[in-house]
Amino acid sequence: MVRGSCLCGSVTFQISDAVGPFEICHCNRCRKKSGSNGIAMIGVLAEHYQLISGASYIQSYAAPILHMEPAYTSNFCKSCGSPTPPLEPSGFFEIPAGLLDDSPGMAPDKHIYTDFSAGWDKFSDDLPRYTLKEIYRLRHGRDFPPHIEIKTHYDADDA
Ligand SMILES: [Zn+2]
Ligand SMILES: [Zn+2]
Repeated sequence: MVRGSCLCGSVTFQISDAVGPFEICHCNRCRKKSGSNGIAMIGVLAEHYQLISGASYIQSYAAPILHMEPAYTSNFCKSCGSPTPPLEPSGFFEIPAGLLDDSPGMAPDKHIYTDFSAGWDKFSDDLPRYTLKEIYRLRHGRDFPPHIEIKTHYDADDA
């Protein structure tokens, strides 16, 4: 079992397996959520995941939609502010890899949303890098809808 927990230890969970991918996302929203240059997220199936404690601590925030549904959702511990897994994941979902207390047995395989990365973000490894359009094509097997304007952040004017 691979254990995970938040900063204060209220939220604890375990996974029996991680299926990947293991991506480091540099999008504007992951940067804000983490307060850093991005978040390493590891792909997990809900059937391999078990929340052990802290269900009442997990809160979620859905950000205004930038491009298309679903909304970017941030799950976090209301006691310490750490990111957490979602309260009730289903199917495939992603866990912030920094929460893991044990090795998941895999390493990051790519950087994504590199066209959103901070100017000071120096990529110091040889992992493949994907822009928003490139990762969209990889995941969906088709091009990012050309009529959707790519924006890095939400403006109040958009409401
Ligand atoms: Zn916490
Ligand atoms: Zn992101």
